[in-house]
Amino acid sequence: MPKNQNKGRRQKEEVELSGIHERRKTELKELERRTKEIAESRKALMNILEDAEIARVEAEGERDKTLAIIENFPEGLLFFDQKNELSSTNPKARDFFDLERENILGKDLETLREIPSLLPLMEILGEELEVYQKELKLTERLVLKVSTITIMSAEEKVGTLVILRDITREKIIERLKTEFVSIAAHQLRTPLSAIKWTLRMILDGDLGEISQEQRKFLEGTYGSNERMIKLINDLLNVTRIEEGRFLYNIQSRDIIEIAEGVIDPMKEIAKRKKVKFSFKTPKREIPKVKVDSEKVSLAIQNLIDNAIHYTKSGGEVKVSLRYSKKEKQILFSVKDSGIGIPKEQQKRVFTRFFRAANAIRAETEGTGLGLFIARNVIEAHQGKIWFESVEGKGTTFYFTLPT
Ligand code: ADP
Repeated sequence: MPKNQNKGRRQKEEVELSGIHERRKTELKELERRTKEIAESRKALMNILEDAEIARVEAEGERDKTLAIIENFPEGLLFFDQKNELSSTNPKARDFFDLERENILGKDLETLREIPSLLPLMEILGEELEVYQKELKLTERLVLKVSTITIMSAEEKVGTLVILRDITREKIIERLKTEFVSIAAHQLRTPLSAIKWTLRMILDGDLGEISQEQRKFLEGTYGSNERMIKLINDLLNVTRIEEGRFLYNIQSRDIIEIAEGVIDPMKEIAKRKKVKFSFKTPKREIPKVKVDSEKVSLAIQNLIDNAIHYTKSGGEVKVSLRYSKKEKQILFSVKDSGIGIPKEQQKRVFTRFFRAANAIRAETEGTGLGLFIARNVIEAHQGKIWFESVEGKGTTFYFTLPT
């Protein structure tokens, strides 16, 4: 073979070899890069897995904590899911009704109603599980307060939680307190009546002449005694309301007649105080109402008494009675131009012993029981009671009674 030819081939081989070499080098680099990339991905994946594991352990911890809270919660809890199926309960709830978890979980309302011990609760809960707060007396020794809460998650209802609170002890204490007030009030009534009649006899001169000065003092004492009798009577009415034995003499009566019976003596009080008084009634005859007239008189009296008391001399009290045929009800209103009720205190007007700051300033006497009694009387007759008032301008109280 000629020398030149050999050299040419070698050179060609060398070129090829160096090409292969270069390619290998690039391939090797690429391999290295990919290996590194995979190693990084693996590391990232491991990190993710590690984070997921931590999150899982944390979530489990949280779940266990929540479960422990629910299990040990001192009130009974029943959780119904979106389909109103019972999805969890705690031991306290199961104890109240003597239930086994396996027999109730996953059951719908209808199936739960078939369990005798659960029936009273299911009746309170109804079809929609919407109870604001209700008492449930299961036995003499077990009274529960039942309330429900809608549980929302991201604006979607996820279920309903029923909370059962044992209020047996509170009920016993409340009953004992009511009994005590009732006994004390009854015991006080007799001597107060005796004082009243003795003072009346002295004031009427039945026990001999009395001087002007003696009369002044005795009249003051008579007034204080009368207020004490009113307080005792109010307290007795409140205890009767609390014991749920308030209305006992329901009869079909003419409401105008009842109102006039109360209003006539009040006109005199208004006149003495120089408060203009009027009473407007419908011209046409109105249907009778089924009421305990003594109690309705008490409610009317409390409203008018307040209107006169909280209105200064020169003011005005307008009482009106209307009848709505369409709504089949009587609307009674007492409007005064008196001191009004401060806006921030208006929410508490119908609660026991409430007296507004301006009323205490204007009229030192008062029990704060009159409106509580009035509201209970009206509501016991399926009526409504409400008011509108502007401090310094006047107040109007309204109530309705179905005919
Ligand atoms: P009392 O009049 O014995 O204080 P009530 O229960 O009758 O108790 O009334 C509660 C409170 O409501 C009063 O103390 C007073 O603050 C307010 N109130 C009731 N009626 C009127 C009224 N007509 N005008 C202004 N305030 C009133």
